[in-house]
Amino acid sequence: MNGKVWLVGAGPGDPDLITVKGMAALHAAQAVVYDRLVNPALLAEAPQDCTLYDVGKEANNHPIPQPQINQILIDCARRGLRVVRLKGGDPFVFGRGSEEAQALREAGIDCEVIPGITSAIGGLAAAGIPVTHRDHASGFHVVTGHLRNGNAPQEWHKLAALSGTLVVLMGMSHLAEICHALIAGGKAPHTPAAVVMHASTPQQQVISAPLAQLAAVSAAAKFHAPALIVVGEVVLLREILAFAGSK
Ligand code: SAH
Repeated sequence: MNGKVWLVGAGPGDPDLITVKGMAALHAAQAVVYDRLVNPALLAEAPQDCTLYDVGKEANNHPIPQPQINQILIDCARRGLRVVRLKGGDPFVFGRGSEEAQALREAGIDCEVIPGITSAIGGLAAAGIPVTHRDHASGFHVVTGHLRNGNAPQEWHKLAALSGTLVVLMGMSHLAEICHALIAGGKAPHTPAAVVMHASTPQQQVISAPLAQLAAVSAAAKFHAPALIVVGEVVLLREILAFAGSK
């Protein structure tokens, strides 16, 4: 009989931010297939005889191709195992978890998604930045700064015209272009902005600057992925709310 795959969100970085249900799945796992962003402390929660598959590893700078990851999940499940596919944040937010669920469905394998706290919201909260606030942002948009080759480019000019908070994931290698494109699209150069690196972990670092200076300030401070880029008035609240962030 086939096993089953649980697509589990590991949360934004702090290993204690996984859900109770996610932790239970991990404790019962016979195979764990995990990504680079997953906190290693969570892997220690898997049973000792559980097989761990590191699919975030890059062989010669080439990430493991998605079809190969799908195949590992399918093969483990066909061996009758309880498989946890552990992904950073929430599995359905830019994590290809949905593509994996589709592949499992096509292979006739049972699958259950266990949501996680996305870094887009929880990672900012850990830095004392609320994504919404009645006086400053009545909504938020979460976008990727890195699109698959061949996909239409991100429409920064349209995003620039929206009110509310803009959160960019996977944007660090294009930070300067992104800030430039938002300003070219009409976003005020003095719009408050920030970069949050290693959110909700002891390595967390935050830098804030007006949008026009963000890329230069971030480069000077050597900020790099994984990091969240956030643009909007809510960044100013950090001065008051940082005390409530990750301890
Ligand atoms: N599914 C994940 C996102 C995967 S895309 C989620 O819901 O959070 C990977 C991107 O997420 C990274 O490039 C970075 O922009 C962001 N990210 C994930 N964890 C992060 C962390 N601890 N600190 C800062 N950014 C993080």
